[in-house]
Amino acid sequence: MNSNHIDLAEWEKMNKDSEKALVMAICPICGSRNSRRQGAFRYEHSFFEGCSRVICGDCEMVFAAPMPSEADLSSYNSSYFATAHGGQPSSPTAQAFFTAMARLRLAFLKGFLDKHRIVVQRVLELGPGPGFFARSWLEQAPKSIYAAIETDRSSHESLLKIGVNLVDTADEVSADLVVMSHVLEHVREPVGFVKAATRGLRSGGVLFIEVPCRDWEHKTIDEPHILFFDKVPMLLFLNNLGFTDIEIAYYGQTISQLKTNSKLHSVLMRVRSKLISWGLVVPFATTQAGMETLTDPLQRAMVGPYGAHRESTEPAWWLRAVARKR
Ligand SMILES: [Zn+2]
Repeated sequence: MNSNHIDLAEWEKMNKDSEKALVMAICPICGSRNSRRQGAFRYEHSFFEGCSRVICGDCEMVFAAPMPSEADLSSYNSSYFATAHGGQPSSPTAQAFFTAMARLRLAFLKGFLDKHRIVVQRVLELGPGPGFFARSWLEQAPKSIYAAIETDRSSHESLLKIGVNLVDTADEVSADLVVMSHVLEHVREPVGFVKAATRGLRSGGVLFIEVPCRDWEHKTIDEPHILFFDKVPMLLFLNNLGFTDIEIAYYGQTISQLKTNSKLHSVLMRVRSKLISWGLVVPFATTQAGMETLTDPLQRAMVGPYGAHRESTEPAWWLRAVARKR
């Protein structure tokens, strides 16, 4: 360890005095003080004012610093769908898109579960939104007990309909699988967050995480994300937390493609979406390798261009990570 590092125990102690730690731009993944400003944090909501995007010189994690306060973030996330997405997804094409994305995540996770012959009966999901992943899980394992923590109450009705048990904390929940899909990039203190979320995870149980990968590089706005992962910091993070059998993979269009997509490309994509919403689905619904679980042509048509069914060797839109608790 070099002089810029602090150990995990010291980091956690410091996190208790979190304002100080976060103002000092200490890396939320490895605890290094060796960070530098990378650029302005691009935002719309005023509580991000004064934030910068900072990169850790040791693990390459990119993060917002200073972080918004816990109170501001909690209130933002409690109406997340209204604030960040203008409401819950409801059109048939949006439903097909999110269902397909959930099924592709599930296919990735199932590969890992099958390989290690892991039996899952109890699932805990953090931040399920309206429950696209939960529904996909319960369709293939209807006898599972599926618990979820969701701070956005606008999703509760939909979750209850699927058969999800809503809980307030992970403390009392024993699980064989913990799922966090598009959650961790919103969290100020990821170490404490994952520790708390996996307290009831049995030894040998599985943690599945999906986050956007380096999305600051291809988006014009950083909000609502405050953590920007890539493989190196994700591996270090899961290692430090004591997870084993770690697998991390890039999925989707590559970052370099996303950065160079032309205006013409986005016009063509809009035309394509229009045609699909008018019912012209079949010409866009070819089955590609990795799409085997997408039996509905509309689902294939909706996700096809994003490549979420394709693993990539270079950094891409999404980072999927799966690991076991020791
Ligand atoms: Zn770091």
